[in-house]
Formats: sequence, C-alpha cells, structure tokens
Amino acid sequence: MAARIHNFNPGPAALPVSVLEETREALVDFKGSGMSIAEVSHRSVIFEEVINHAVDRVKRLLKMSDDFKVLFLQGGASLQFSMVPMNLIPSGLSADYINTGTWATKAIKEIEILGLPHKVIASSEDRNFCYIPKEYDVSQGAAYLHYTSNNTIKGTQWASTPKAGKIPLVSDMSSDIFCRPFDPAPFGLIYAGAQKNLGPAGVTFVIIREDMLERCPKNIPTMLRYSTHAGKNSLYNTPPCVSIYMVSLVLKWIEETIGGLDAMERRNRQKAELLYNFLDQSDFYKGTADKDSRSLMNVTFRLKSEELEKKFTAEAGKHSLGGLKGHRSVGGCRASLYNAIELESVKALIEFMKDFAMKNG
Ligand SMILES: *Cc1c(COP(=O)(O)O)cnc(C)c1O
Repeated sequence: MAARIHNFNPGPAALPVSVLEETREALVDFKGSGMSIAEVSHRSVIFEEVINHAVDRVKRLLKMSDDFKVLFLQGGASLQFSMVPMNLIPSGLSADYINTGTWATKAIKEIEILGLPHKVIASSEDRNFCYIPKEYDVSQGAAYLHYTSNNTIKGTQWASTPKAGKIPLVSDMSSDIFCRPFDPAPFGLIYAGAQKNLGPAGVTFVIIREDMLERCPKNIPTMLRYSTHAGKNSLYNTPPCVSIYMVSLVLKWIEETIGGLDAMERRNRQKAELLYNFLDQSDFYKGTADKDSRSLMNVTFRLKSEELEKKFTAEAGKHSLGGLKGHRSVGGCRASLYNAIELESVKALIEFMKDFAMKNG
C-alpha cells in the first residue's frame, strides 16, 4: 500500500487500515459471490447478514436491551436535526435543548423552522462555547432533552451523560459515538453521521427506543418516519450498502481488534492526555477549551497569530501530518483524534509541534 499520512481530519476522517483493506477485497468480490459489495442486491441474504451482524455488534458493544432498534438512514446528522422534532414531540409537549456549539445551534434552528415548541435550557455561548454547562433545569414533562455529546468544532465534550430523570435523552453523538462505553438506558434516541468515528460518509447511524416509535404524528412523510425504517430493518428503500458494510467492519474492529469499548476508551484517553499534557506545558500553543470540558476526540488549540497558524498547518502537511486546520468558522488549529488514530500519530504530531515551536518561538 502507498504511504499513508497521519490523518487528523475532522470528518470524513481516518479509518483503520484493516477496514480499508477488507473493503478493497469486497469491492471486487464480496465473500466469493463473484460480485462487488457495491453490486449485490440489498434484498439478498448476504447483505441482510451484513446489516444484522452490524446491529448485533452494536447491541453487544453497548450491552443494549432489545427495547432499542438500530437503524441505518441517509441525510446525515443534519437531517436528524429535523427528523427528531418531527417524530418525537407528541402534541401538547415541548422539547428541551442545551446549546453547546455550532451543531447544537443548527439543531435548534431546525426546530425553530418547524415551529415546534421548545426551550433552550442552557447554553455556553457567553464564552464562545468553550465549556459544557454544569447547571441546567430540565423542564417537567419535556418531550426529550437534546444535547450534543461532543462538540467537534469547539473541542468540548460531555464528561458523562447529563441527568434528566425520566425525560428521555436525545443525543447527537456524530463525533464521539463508540469512543467510550455508556449506558443506553436513559436515551430515547441517539444519532450520528458515520463519517467521523464510525465509517465513511453516506450513512447515518440511529439508535431508537421502541416506545419512541409510537410518538410520530400522522402527517409526517413516509421516508421521514423512524417507524418506516424500524419496521423494515433499514431496508425500506435502497440503503447505502457500501457505507453500511464499512460501518460493520469498523464495529468488528472495535469489538475484535481493540477489545470493546472499555479498551477503546483507554486508548483514546492515552492519546488525548499525551497531547493535552504537551499543550499545557507549552507557552507557544494554547488549548481553547476549559480543562474540565475538553474533548477526547477534537483537540482545539491556537498559536500566537493567524499567520503563524497558517505556517503551522502548511509545514505540518509537508511532514505527512494532515487535517490540522481549525473549522473555518473559528480558525485556529484542531487535531481530531478519532478511534482509528494511532498513538504513534499523536507522538509524531507532538514531535513536529516541539520542533516548530523551537524554530518559530
Ligand atoms: C459533522 C457533524 C454534524 C453534521 O453531520 P452531517 O452528517 O454532515 O450532516 C452534526 N453534528 C455533529 C456533532 C457533527 O460533528
């Protein structure tokens, strides 16, 4: 295989090499079928097995009860911003939202467009979303509490699941799903665009608790109802077969190669701590998120000037360190350390950062 770079892209992002290699095989001949995974029928037994095995792995990884359905949808996490309120607010109820950054703001914008009742019960906008709010009062009888578990752009992450009593949680886990174990019990729905931590673009991962399926009003179009997809095992219409196949390989990699979510978390903590510890002792680089709100997945930092940041990302590129530019809306730098990133890549990044600081300090 040609030389691969240390890929710190925010999404689409790095995937395990073993997954790419297995996909390469399957793109020509999938399991001796004489057809590519891109050519088999989504109604065939071999493809149904792909979906079923992926669902089983999710259930095992999260030790999840049969009250939950695992779905593979399209439209990205962005379509979930509207599908969630369309489906999950029974008439007379209102939904709670916590605003922790760009993606949460977009989710709130969609419920505003739909004109559905909601309340933003906490926000960290006062300090440019550099922290996770600690105080929030969940409204009594709320339809759900929506929060973004990891804020990809601002580099913050909920250290633990927010408490909402009996109110079902709805979470956008696009950029940290399966980075660590969590208890699915308090969740009504979880969604994630696959292209950060779970696979390639083109498929949206959803976990929904069965009782949530009954909430949908009558006037929601067929394709936008969770119950349509849940009732057909995500095969109501043609799904993105290749993307789902690759997600199934990533799940297999987490379970069999890494050894499950506890091991995944240990590996992710080791990587993130190495980089944060380096940032903390440096006076050349400065982390942007509050320490107690720091993300394991997206490490955001700044240099002394935008000019220097430009030079930093350009020179990093020449050293096979890619994807370090911050999101265009916030600037600065960002290293995305998703599940597939190896410790060696973080070490290589830190070596480069030391060297760059010495030459430009
Ligand atoms: C990337 C991202 C999205 C948008 O995902 P799409 O699949 O491109 O719609 C939404 N939420 C979070 C937290 C993200 O990181």
